[in-house]
Amino acid sequence: MPAKRTRNQEKILQLLQTTQRSLSAQDIFTELRKTRQGMGLATVYRSLEALKLEGVVQVRTTQNGESLYSSMQQDKHHLTCLQCGASISLSDCPVRQLELELQQSHHFKIFYHTLEFFGLCSPCQQSQIANPSPEQTLDY
Ligand SMILES: [Zn+2]
Ligand SMILES: [Zn+2]
Repeated sequence: MPAKRTRNQEKILQLLQTTQRSLSAQDIFTELRKTRQGMGLATVYRSLEALKLEGVVQVRTTQNGESLYSSMQQDKHHLTCLQCGASISLSDCPVRQLELELQQSHHFKIFYHTLEFFGLCSPCQQSQIANPSPEQTLDY
């Protein structure tokens, strides 16, 4: 059954489609306020939930637990640095074939997937080599 979108859902979807980056619910709330198309934060969350289940919006959870929403066309593959939080997008999907296989073997309709690799970015690796900081062990 195709869900009928509410006006608020349409506004949020439009915002996500025109924005190049992922937005948190709070960001969306703030952005819509600026355009005088404001709605309550609870409505933003409810609309995002509906759009998510429709498969047109995807969610990614950042290291600090914040949920970031983006429209479906955007890249979903990241290298994330544990030290500085830098997030590098990968342009190619390494698992497209796997996704097709899973759809068939599990009869599961896959809307999207996320793929995230964690480690240290190049500048952070260099700063570690430059400062092997013995005091760092005292932090633990
Ligand atoms: Zn880094
Ligand atoms: Zn992929």
